[in-house]
Amino acid sequence: MDTLLDQDWRALAECARTDPELWFSPGALEHKEAKRICRECPVRRQCLAFAMEAPVDHGVWGGLTERERRRRRGQGPPPAL
Ligand code: SF4
Repeated sequence: MDTLLDQDWRALAECARTDPELWFSPGALEHKEAKRICRECPVRRQCLAFAMEAPVDHGVWGGLTERERRRRRGQGPPPAL
């Protein structure tokens, strides 16, 4: 079960091996590249669940921007990836 306390998934994060600015830049091009990398990330589901539960209010997490995550909040659990 994934919880806020269970963050072992971070060790497998694709973004840990890339420039973190991609995930926290306000630019659309950076977001597009970050989301492309997120799609290949083996822990995307755990990352998105964490960002939705916390909630995290900045950056791209689990392949979604803050705006996209906010839109999904209140609409039930995150979709299966
Ligand atoms: S899904 Fe994206 S933001 Fe989350 S750990 Fe993977 S690469 Fe990083």
